[in-house]
Amino acid sequence: MGHDHDHEHSELDPMDVRVRALETLLTEKGYVDPAALDELIDAYQTRIGPRNGARVVARAWVDDEFREWLRTDATAAIASLGYGGRQGEHMVAVEQAADTHHMVVCTLCSCYPWPVLGLPPTWYKSAPYRSRAVRDPRGVLAEFGVEPADDVELRVWDSTAEVRYLVIPQRPAGTDGWSEEQLADLVTRDSMIGVGLPLDAASTEAAPG
Ligand code: FE
Repeated sequence: MGHDHDHEHSELDPMDVRVRALETLLTEKGYVDPAALDELIDAYQTRIGPRNGARVVARAWVDDEFREWLRTDATAAIASLGYGGRQGEHMVAVEQAADTHHMVVCTLCSCYPWPVLGLPPTWYKSAPYRSRAVRDPRGVLAEFGVEPADDVELRVWDSTAEVRYLVIPQRPAGTDGWSEEQLADLVTRDSMIGVGLPLDAASTEAAPG
């Protein structure tokens, strides 16, 4: 830190170094079992990811009762599909609409709804995103290729240790009669953070048939 000559001895960034040091210390003191830790990390890297959230969104698109449940108790509605637990204990769903665009940030650190989106992308944890999402949400959205019309109200939700948000994007046009599974294929991670839109119905990999 504080010096910028070339480093040959380590390609780890300072946070990686601290995490490793902590893991080593906790293991040596007997506070954590490295195998249990590996299993947890593997779960979030390979099994628990944005596909979970996509299934929640697809259900909301086809099932008005489920959508209403999401509005009133997102934690329970999401848990009914089998997604719950750590970092998703208090979920709130916010719905994109023609006149309102929601986006999610954690200004303090990197709070993120793990059970539905997996681990946060690097940019979500970066200082520029965290500060600019609040100061200049339109500028940030434009960099992600999202440009809501001037009369669309932007709402920025600040995640905390208490509350995590899931954005429910608008159902793409031309998807009448699609199955939930087909619809879920249109739901991108970024659309559930509010910095992207779902794929459109013509996107080849998702189109039915
Ligand atoms: Fe945070």
